[in-house]
Amino acid sequence: MGSNVSFSFATIVRENHSLAPFTWLQIGGPTRYLIEPNDQKQLIEVVQACHADAIPMRILGGGSNLLIRESGFDGATFCLSSPAFSQMSCLENRVTCGGAAKLSHLIAYCVGNGLGGLEHLVGIPGTVGGALCGNAGTDDGDIGQVVESAKLLTKDGRVVEATGRQLAFSHRVSSLDELVILEATFRLESGEVDKLTKREQTFWIVKRSRQPSFPERAAVAFVNPDGYKASELLQQSGFNGASEGAMRLSSTYPNYLIAASGATSGQALTLVERVREGVRDRTGVQLQLHLQIW
Ligand SMILES: Cc1cc2nc3c(=O)[nH]c(=O)nc-3n(C[C@H](O)[C@H](O)[C@H](O)COP(=O)(O)OP(=O)(O)OC[C@H]3O[C@@H](n4cnc5c(N)ncnc54)[C@H](O)[C@@H]3O)c2cc1C
Repeated sequence: MGSNVSFSFATIVRENHSLAPFTWLQIGGPTRYLIEPNDQKQLIEVVQACHADAIPMRILGGGSNLLIRESGFDGATFCLSSPAFSQMSCLENRVTCGGAAKLSHLIAYCVGNGLGGLEHLVGIPGTVGGALCGNAGTDDGDIGQVVESAKLLTKDGRVVEATGRQLAFSHRVSSLDELVILEATFRLESGEVDKLTKREQTFWIVKRSRQPSFPERAAVAFVNPDGYKASELLQQSGFNGASEGAMRLSSTYPNYLIAASGATSGQALTLVERVREGVRDRTGVQLQLHLQIW
């Protein structure tokens, strides 16, 4: 079964490869196959082969919102590292961008072309695909608000189009359940490059003041519940700085998990569960995880 995939695509498949280096927290076990296709055609061929062999598939973005269990993932994990998946182009006030492009590169490209609407997302790590998957955003808005359409790859290897409305974005959630966001088109507002650059810089200063300084091994733990800030609930409940083994919540920015040397995903899961129960008991609010757990 699976050996067909590793045999037919030997040059782009690595077996039993650790996923830890692909995540910001740098923890977690291996994937059965790590696959780095060179282009869309090859990606489709491998997805179809995996689908035919009933091999489960997942896709990595920048790994800034992933917690990988120590047991890893017994399937195929795709890493779209080839530049073919990060192309950008601009036509009037529309920008089309590959799903694997860094969100920061997309923002810089738009601002440089005098197109506004994404600057408030500056400082959010990861890729455009990852941002769309979780409808990344800030208090000033989220990415879903400016998406016009997206090109998706289904689990059986078909390319389909979806409109922004069909993707049904809401708070830190989208209804994207296809395998890969290949590219997305954003409808933006024309503006002056200087003004947009200043706006971006201001957002960047604010963002930096609200999160741990780089390059810590950090991740956002919980989604802000309706009408609340997760960080304030954590602080009120006395969980800032809470730890489990080598994993802790930041004492200054309590909604960030920080991994120290020797941290494990088991410790992270125990910590978030303990904190979730504690916050519920003390405030009545049920926190939802921001991190995706593999
Ligand atoms: C310091 C720091 C600050 C942060 N600030 C914010 C913030 O202000 N706002 C916010 O919303 N988030 C924030 N985050 C969380 C995180 O950066 C976002 O959720 C980000 O959008 C995740 O993108 P990624 O590419 O790293 O996705 P990953 O972590 O790699 O993946 C997340 C999910 O997206 C899926 N995915 C990735 N690429 C694709 C694709 N091409 N097609 C289909 N699915 C895909 C993955 O399968 C996975 O399910 C922050 C994280 C850190 C560490």
